[in-house]
Amino acid sequence: MHFALDVCVTGNPNGWPAIQEHVVDITEKVAMPCPPHRPAPLSLHQKQREQRRVGQGGRAPPPQSSGNMAAPATSIGDKRFLIFFDFDETIVDENSDDAVVQAAPGRKLPTWLKDSFRPGHYNEHMQRVLGYMAEQGVQEDAIRSAIEKIPASPGILALFQYLRAHPRDFETVVVSDANMYFIETWLCRVGARQLFQKILTNPAAFDSSGRLVLRPHHSHNCARCPENMCKQVVVQDYLAQRAKERGHPFQRVFYVGDGANDFCPLLTLGPMDTVFPRRDYPIHKLIIESQPMVIKPSVVPWIRGEDVVDHLKKLAEDR
Ligand SMILES: [Mg+2]
Ligand SMILES: [Zn+2]
Repeated sequence: MHFALDVCVTGNPNGWPAIQEHVVDITEKVAMPCPPHRPAPLSLHQKQREQRRVGQGGRAPPPQSSGNMAAPATSIGDKRFLIFFDFDETIVDENSDDAVVQAAPGRKLPTWLKDSFRPGHYNEHMQRVLGYMAEQGVQEDAIRSAIEKIPASPGILALFQYLRAHPRDFETVVVSDANMYFIETWLCRVGARQLFQKILTNPAAFDSSGRLVLRPHHSHNCARCPENMCKQVVVQDYLAQRAKERGHPFQRVFYVGDGANDFCPLLTLGPMDTVFPRRDYPIHKLIIESQPMVIKPSVVPWIRGEDVVDHLKKLAEDR
């Protein structure tokens, strides 16, 4: 997956905003499909269903294409609910920015690089980390493999299975301050890329020298959030865009997250909505410490993905 990010940078030498706009634009169009040599593994449930069909004399369905960017086959206009997922320590049980360091020489970063981190500038820091790894000869295969090895959070794949079994009810979206390459790589690995209608994150692509280049998702004026991403603005914009396209808003919005940067988007959710904070993680503590009435959605802490499934089941049955 090499495309012309470096060309866009050198082609716009005069300023960051032009680069940023251009890169976001191309990333929308060329976001990575799952690699063809790595078909999405079928879930056990799917395998059993297919074996039954074949056994009954029916034809086996064609293999699923794994994760192109086309909209899912089911109609997307009539879904009742929208569920947002954070990625690091929510979908996956580690931070992908830490996990990628497993591909660095000696599986660690030099002290000068660790010390160069400035609070609020995490994206820039990761850019330096990925630059260092490229200089050390770490190639895409090693990075991909480190990301693919990250374990799923407990019960998250069961939650994905539930959502996949209810395609008419749920539109599913990632909102993450990781990056497009890590997220798509991991979702492809577990065969879940197609579940997600949209991945809202920092654009990322390998340049011609083999370095993974990150770009900020957007710019915003929120004082609480890092300069490359305010998830409240991202969530608000997405909800407004989808309400316009559908002609009406979603009945309910859900948000599953763990981090301090998942708190800002909760301020835009309403009383019909639900936030699922990972129990005892920073977002949960921030919610507990927040003033009464600041958070309007219901709060349902989770330890396992099945806790989220249980709650969604109750709401989905309530037509
Ligand atoms: Mg997180
Ligand atoms: Zn914010």
